[in-house]
Amino acid sequence: MFDALMISRADGVVTTRLEQVDPTALPEGDVTVEIDHSSLNYKDALAMTRGAPVVRQFPMIPGIDLAGRVLHSDDPVHRPGDQVLATGWGLGERHWGGLARMARLPGRWLLPQPAGLSARQAMGIGTAGFTAMLCVMSLEEGGVTPTSGPIVVNGAGGGVGGMAIMLLAQLGYQVAAVTGRPQLHTYLTGLGATEVLPRDTLSPTGKVLETARWAGGIDVVGGETLATMCASVQYGGTVAACGLAGGLALPLTVAPFILRGIRLQGIDSVMCPRPRRMTAWARLARDIDPARLDSMLHDARLADAIAIAPRILAGHIRGRTVINMV
Ligand code: NDP
Repeated sequence: MFDALMISRADGVVTTRLEQVDPTALPEGDVTVEIDHSSLNYKDALAMTRGAPVVRQFPMIPGIDLAGRVLHSDDPVHRPGDQVLATGWGLGERHWGGLARMARLPGRWLLPQPAGLSARQAMGIGTAGFTAMLCVMSLEEGGVTPTSGPIVVNGAGGGVGGMAIMLLAQLGYQVAAVTGRPQLHTYLTGLGATEVLPRDTLSPTGKVLETARWAGGIDVVGGETLATMCASVQYGGTVAACGLAGGLALPLTVAPFILRGIRLQGIDSVMCPRPRRMTAWARLARDIDPARLDSMLHDARLADAIAIAPRILAGHIRGRTVINMV
């Protein structure tokens, strides 16, 4: 038997409990992993507290991230004892995920743990850091460089925002961090932000174009905030949109596209193809500053995750929560 968080639904009510699960109940897959560390993401918090729309079938073990050691493998790429990680692919949504001591999953979802990163660091980075790196790569592909001008990042106190600030700073960019928590000023400058701005910096003013302030932007909020970010980016700039912490709608005009030639790039970490994952993780292992990463991390036990989830949705958790299974 192994420890797992289990989300159930009965009479429309969703509950998440710590349970003992029989390994024979694990889903289909050619690799079995003993999980050492996982992490808590916004999506996990949504799954554990509300179920839908994240969880596609019940009962479900949440956890979109996992890192651990291969116990058994029918996939020639992975051998028993290998340290591996997985993010996305429907883990914790359609397929039992990482908030458990064991998982069984298709070998093609697994990546070798990048050299130089521990399992704790890999899960500290997790989907949030991976997504932040995909955002940075999309800015680069849009032609944005450190000499183009400052980059604006919102949701700065959260996981993706903090990781994006850290990565951009490490690469030599000037970074404006937008947060609803001014008390995080010292933390955010410690991650490498050159400027910390209040949330209303990206509130709509009613104009179709705002003053062009930034060479690019990384948005985790969506809604009017993303629309204002697009309208505030300078000629030829790129905005990477990855989140919906502030809403799904996008009340945008075409003005930033046809008058400033800006690019809006959507980012998806879940179904991102394996070669791009390998590139992103190799860069994460190279570009992450271990001390700055450590300043973002909180450690918690599996059972603690249930109480932390609503605090993530309320925007009260700073940085990243690593779940330690050992
Ligand atoms: P966190 O909860 O760690 O951080 C979200 C941050 O957004 C908060 O800390 C807060 O930052 C800010 N925020 C929250 N609510 C609002 C609001 N109503 N208006 C403005 N800002 C708000 O989440 P993650 O960083 O893990 O994820 C952020 C978003 O990105 C989520 O929507 C998530 O679903 C999405 N995501 C998407 C991925 C993809 O593949 N596309 C992958 C990973 C995440 P502050 O207090 O500093 O303002």
